[in-house]
Amino acid sequence: MQKELQEIEKMIVVSQLAASVSHEIRNPLTTVRGLLQVFRERELPLEKRWNLTEVALNELDTAINIISDYLTFAKPQVVKMTFLNISDELQQVTSVLTPYANMLQVTLACVVDTAQPILGDSQQFRQCLINLVKNCIEASPNGRVDIAVLSNREHVLIRIKDNGVGMADEQIQRLGIPYYSTKEKGTGLGMMVVFSIIKAMNGTIKVESEINRGSLFVISFPLTILLKTD
Ligand code: ADP
Ligand code: MG
Repeated sequence: MQKELQEIEKMIVVSQLAASVSHEIRNPLTTVRGLLQVFRERELPLEKRWNLTEVALNELDTAINIISDYLTFAKPQVVKMTFLNISDELQQVTSVLTPYANMLQVTLACVVDTAQPILGDSQQFRQCLINLVKNCIEASPNGRVDIAVLSNREHVLIRIKDNGVGMADEQIQRLGIPYYSTKEKGTGLGMMVVFSIIKAMNGTIKVESEINRGSLFVISFPLTILLKTD
């Protein structure tokens, strides 16, 4: 009976995350569908047609990008390097993961204390943070996950801390090995993606953990430009 309940709970959690993603994909697709219907039913002037096609293409790009966010391991190399505003990136990441944190009764908090940009591919950077923070949420039901960003003269540091189940040393050693997972429905691909993205961004990651106390991940990226105001 207990087992059955756990199974159902897990299914709800998994379908909640999938639902929030599919919702974000459904919106742009619904718009494109509406536009195609307009094209079928009306003779439109050329310019109007062109503009609406442009709208449809942009909506499709949005859907494609959302799918890619969740499937980065299909193309692990960094593709489009730009200066990233960490605050904006984290806002997107936390908004995607907040429903999931709420499901598991995890408090998710984020403080960004620097305006320094870092160099990377926005989609991959988000994927990396999503994978890390998702693990922390899964490790800490009824607990909390804290994200803090700061910079010094050489680096931008992103600290992600949970107060969950923690890991023994040999578990830490295994992080990033493909298909290593202690979860019943784990992919064991999350940390592999995390390591490969951080490496491609010239960053490093350090892990500290203690069983039943929690884990701390510190990601460090080299400063790209030194802001006077920072
Ligand atoms: P998955 O999450 O699908 O299991 P990951 O590659 O994301 O695969 O993680 C691999 C394993 O590392 C997890 O199954 C878990 O045992 C461990 N792990 C990762 N992050 C944490 C964390 N924050 N707290 C405790 N264990 C973790
Ligand atoms: Mg994971």
